[in-house]
Amino acid sequence: MPLPDSGVVIKRTRSFYYVDVGEASPRLCRIRGNLFESSKYDQRVAVGDHVRIDLNASEDAGWILEILPRHTKLSRRSREGETEQILVTNAEVLMIVAALRRPEFRSGMVDRMIVAALRGGLRPLLVLNKCDLASEEIWAPIREVYESLGYEVLRTSATQAIGLQELRDRLQGKTTVLSGHSGVGKSSLIKALYPDWSIRVGDVNRKVGKGRHTTVLAEMFALPESGYLVDTPGIRELEPFGVTRETLGQYFVEFTPFEGQCRFARCSHQHEPDCAVKEALGSGAILQRRYESFVALWESLEA
Ligand code: GDP
Ligand code: ZN
Repeated sequence: MPLPDSGVVIKRTRSFYYVDVGEASPRLCRIRGNLFESSKYDQRVAVGDHVRIDLNASEDAGWILEILPRHTKLSRRSREGETEQILVTNAEVLMIVAALRRPEFRSGMVDRMIVAALRGGLRPLLVLNKCDLASEEIWAPIREVYESLGYEVLRTSATQAIGLQELRDRLQGKTTVLSGHSGVGKSSLIKALYPDWSIRVGDVNRKVGKGRHTTVLAEMFALPESGYLVDTPGIRELEPFGVTRETLGQYFVEFTPFEGQCRFARCSHQHEPDCAVKEALGSGAILQRRYESFVALWESLEA
């Protein structure tokens, strides 16, 4: 049997890349030094990358020869500000878990994650968990808002086993990044979905917490049937990379019909007169809580 010559990077540490080649365990690879001399973050190998490898070259580890073209990219701004930190590439879905109660549903994080997903080319999937604690009056309007924007919404209860099969169907065969505040039920959901699976969501966080020099930004886990789940601690304080105050409106789909219709070309949609977005807010075409998310994000971005 010939050795595999390509695979998917599912984890990286300081010295090694773990490449899933469809065998029982991943193959360890290093980067061939001269290939990635460029200091541009974009050129470096990220979790999720499809890579061409050479396993013949070395006994203990193979070489990564080439990164194949990326389809999506979930990135955040580094703490220092300007540089891009790629959390994961080639994921199709950003699963945003929010609790309907305990903690109370708040749209700020959901809307920020939607911006990050759209920016990176991922499809947002909103999972409203703890539905056993919330009446229809609470969850139906939330679902309506996000469905009307074109996003898929599921209602689940990890503890009462509601909506689990629908969610399993969505994860099947895809690469899905998990996000959501702590306490909303992410690990409970994964356990309820795949009771025999050994993965503990959040373990990546703990590992990172231990060694200050660990470079684990994300880790991909093969789901029991097909598809991958990506756990990334970096998602918690995710400031989407490459989104500016001027371009933020592009990632709020309900703003786009009004683009170019404000009196001022570089309207912030906040203090200017004759602002088409604020008129739409007045008429109800744009919802107050989505507008508030827009303003909060706008303020968090550099001028
Ligand atoms: P994580 O931090 O997002 O991984 O959240 P956990 O899975 O640790 O859950 C936090 C708390 O919420 C735990 O006490 C869970 O038992 C509880 N919880 C999780 N899912 C549900 C649910 O669907 N309904 C209810 N009532 N509680 C839940
Ligand atoms: Zn405006």
